Order: sequence, then C-alpha cells, then structure tokens
Amino acid sequence: MSGKKVLVTGGTGFIGSHTVVELINAGYTPIIIDDLSNSTPQILNQIETITGVKPDFFQFDLCDSKATFEFISQNSDIDGIIHFAAFKSVGESVENPLSYYRNNLYSLVNLLESLSDRPMNFVFSSSCTVYGEPEKLPVTEEAPVKKAESPYGNTKQISEEILLDTTKAKGNLKVTALRYFNPVGAHASALIGELPTGVPQNLVPFITQAAIGKRGDIVVHGNDYNTPDGTCIRDYIHVVDLAKAHISALKKMEQHTDEDRFKVYNIGTGKGSSVLEVIHAFENATGVKAGYKMGPRRPGDVEQIFGEVGKAERELAWKAELNLSVMMSSAWAWENYIKENPM
Ligand code: NAD
Repeated sequence: MSGKKVLVTGGTGFIGSHTVVELINAGYTPIIIDDLSNSTPQILNQIETITGVKPDFFQFDLCDSKATFEFISQNSDIDGIIHFAAFKSVGESVENPLSYYRNNLYSLVNLLESLSDRPMNFVFSSSCTVYGEPEKLPVTEEAPVKKAESPYGNTKQISEEILLDTTKAKGNLKVTALRYFNPVGAHASALIGELPTGVPQNLVPFITQAAIGKRGDIVVHGNDYNTPDGTCIRDYIHVVDLAKAHISALKKMEQHTDEDRFKVYNIGTGKGSSVLEVIHAFENATGVKAGYKMGPRRPGDVEQIFGEVGKAERELAWKAELNLSVMMSSAWAWENYIKENPM
C-alpha cells in the first residue's frame, strides 16, 4: 500500500473494521490503534482475507497519554485520523458514568493534544442521540442539541464541543463530526460484523441472536407509541454505507479550503423503520421466523427519529445505497458465520 496514511482508532471494532476495509479499497494505508477492550485481534486476519492487506496494528489505551504522544510523534506521516475508539453502551454509561467520561473524553483530548499544531483531517464518530426526541422530522443538522439522556450521549455532545473549540484555536485542524443514525448489517463477505458483548441492547443483533437460538423471543419495548404500528421508529443504515461516509468526509477535507473547519453531517438513509417493520424485513430477507413478544417501554427510548441526509449528499457526495433487506441478510450471514467460527 502506498496511499495516504490514516490512523483509525478503534479500528478492530464494528464500524472501525468496516471502515478499514473501505479505506484499503479506496487506496489509503490505514494504521490501527485499539486496546481490544471491545474487540478481538482476529479481526485483523479477517480484514486481510477480505482485502489482501493486514493493516499495521498498535494495541494500547488512548487514555495513556505517554503512549499516545509517543505514537503520534513517531508517525509524522499520518494525514488523517478517524476516531472511533470509545465505550458505547447507553445502559452501562448510566451505571458507570465516570468510566465513560474518562474513556471517551480523555482519549479524545490526548489525541488532540498529541497533534500539537500538526495539520490534520479528523473524522469523529458522533451520534443522532445528540438530538434527543426531535421536534421536527426528518431531523436536520440545525436541530437543537438536547440535554443528553445518558452519560454516553453526553460524551458525544461534549466531544463535539471540544472539537469545535479546538478547531477555533488550532488553524491546522479540520474536523468532520458524523452523526450516525442506527448502524446495522455486516460486510458482504460475512467475515466482519458486530460482536455484541452480553445481551445486545440494539434491535438487529437481538433479532439475529434470537433467530439462531442464543436468546429467547425478541422483546419489543413498547407498542403504544404514537407511530403507525405503535413501535419505535429508527433510521437504520448499513455499516458498509456508513464506513464509506468516512472516506467521503476525509476526501472532502483533503480538497477543501473552506473557512469553516468544523462540519457536522447526519449519516443515515433518511427513512424511518419501525421495530415491527425491521422484524418483518428480517423474516422476508432470510426466510427465518423471528418470534417476538410485546414488553413495556424502555426508559430513555425516543419515539421516532430519522435523519434529513441531504447535506451529506450535497457536500460529501455520499448517499446510502443498501436497503433494509440487505442489512438483514448480511447481519444474518454474519451471525451464522460466528456460530461456526466463534471469536
Ligand atoms: P465498538 O465497541 O465495536 O468499537 C470501538 C473500538 O474502540 C473497540 O474495538 C474498542 O476495543 C476500542 N476502544 C475503546 N476505548 C478505547 C481506548 N481508550 N483506547 C483504544 N481503543 C479503545 O463500537 P462501534 O459500534 O464500532 O462504534 C464506534 C464508534 O461509533 C464509537 O465512538 C461509538 O460511540 C460510535 N457510534 C456507534 C453507534 C452504534 O450503534 N454502533 C452509533 C452512533 C455512534
């Protein structure tokens, strides 16, 4: 590989691994830092099988400022950073807020401080959780950021503020914060995908685990919402489409000489699907029956959210291409793969 070098923090994780594959496909040279707190080094072999390239990998915690500073000073040829590394469980963050504030904020601050005044294109993993329960749908990037419902959500809001303030102070830093909607699915090879620890908090891994017999029936958290079928609505996006959005964001920053060095984009399909629609899409895509039962509402769940995604289309020349059926069939292929090849 000889393309531009891009540091991918959290690059052995779910979204990170798919992005590493797309970076290689686009001619970049990804280099990964991950402490493996929520992933396995086997993913590096899987990436190699898919792409023919085994990316350079460094295992350490980005909260370790000495290790982070040393790494950045020894790698002066890095052109871009995609920062995925963070803890991501809403429920866990409520139980253990300090570990979330420490991990998600220290890692970001260390990384930014280590850069000093080096020119850098920086992509940050943000989330549609910053909008809370939106007043208008589809939600645009101009919608107000609501008080976060969880410490996890708050770390995303604070991180965006840290990045905005830092771009104001450091003239060489460009930042693109991508506000993801609900990433699901897996690579078409079924060699990489989501590896939830414990009981999945997200719908799609719960569906695939229930269908393969790892869990009992799927529990639908509330069917008395003010939506057509009474269940919550989300904007599901295929993880490969999401991965490609990071490359579009990098390319835009490489070309762009705009005054505005802090940009925010919604990354979704712009289409909302209810919990029941997703369960039925899974059954239609796979031919497998997914048993479900109704349960009470879950505290903190917003009724419905889906994104206005025109800004990313116009400015990043990026658009989601894969539909719900592909999201479901690829997630199912991955669930079957890990049944045969546990990681
Ligand atoms: P993931 O847990 O699969 O990947 C994160 C990776 O970062 C893991 O491999 C973990 O080992 C690593 N990591 C965590 N803290 C670290 C540290 N201090 N130093 C080094 N490595 C560390 O999660 P994901 O689903 O791929 O999410 C990636 C990013 O996207 C996260 O920032 C997450 O908050 C954000 N995000 C995810 C979703 C989602 O639904 N998956 C939605 C919105 C935003």
